[in-house]
Amino acid sequence: MSSETASDDSTVSVIVVGGGPAGLNAALFTAKDGIKTTVFDTDETWMHKAHLFNYLGIGSVGGSEFMATARQQVDDLGADRRQGERVTDVEETADGFAVETEDGEYEADYVVLATGANRELAEALGCEFTDEGVVDVGVDMETSVAGAYATGAMVRPEEWQAAIAVGDGAAAALNILSDVRGEHFHDFDVPADASRVFGELVAE
Ligand SMILES: Cc1cc2nc3c(=O)[nH]c(=O)nc-3n(C[C@H](O)[C@H](O)[C@H](O)COP(=O)(O)OP(=O)(O)OC[C@H]3O[C@@H](n4cnc5c(N)ncnc54)[C@H](O)[C@@H]3O)c2cc1C
Repeated sequence: MSSETASDDSTVSVIVVGGGPAGLNAALFTAKDGIKTTVFDTDETWMHKAHLFNYLGIGSVGGSEFMATARQQVDDLGADRRQGERVTDVEETADGFAVETEDGEYEADYVVLATGANRELAEALGCEFTDEGVVDVGVDMETSVAGAYATGAMVRPEEWQAAIAVGDGAAAALNILSDVRGEHFHDFDVPADASRVFGELVAE
């Protein structure tokens, strides 16, 4: 199914924990394709220390500048980004996940963990780890807890790169969308989709 024919999945919800490259790219896809998406982030992304010369398609960009553009993009596509709200616990419930933050309690059908190299929430949730001490996921980024995904630095011992984190987020989101739709989902757009997707934000 292409995004052009995507149905409204606004009754389905995902909570993304962590708003670095991995978490924001997961949020971009789920929000763009109609899933109610909430992102909690404490703004300690490593990107603030980085300058990218190795991100395909971008010659050179400061890490904080990259994050500012990414945040604007997920906001424009409809994600609810709760900047500065730390998640303190994630638990499985009968029909999804309960997420506790410093400010409140939330529920969602799916959860995407994207807390960088900090794996504490994955451990608390009961996700299996590999012998190397990272969260065990496959190429779809789903953990051993059904409906819970782990992305970015937490799933690799090293070899940490922004492009890899971004790819992890996309893989998790597409797997969630495929699960929701009951068939493999493609977020494919063509030039004629520009005004539908971006509305008045579309570039000339
Ligand atoms: C000095 C330095 C230079 C680098 N240079 C490059 C480079 O040139 N090119 C490149 O590709 N990569 C570079 N990297 C690596 C790149 O920054 C990482 O690969 C990337 O940031 C990992 O993305 P992530 O989303 O997994 O985690 P992060 O970017 O670390 O994001 C995790 C986010 O989760 C938030 N968070 C954590 N716990 C919670 C919680 N409980 N509740 C809510 N939010 C939470 C954090 O505040 C953070 O914002 C560099 C890294 C460093 C340190």
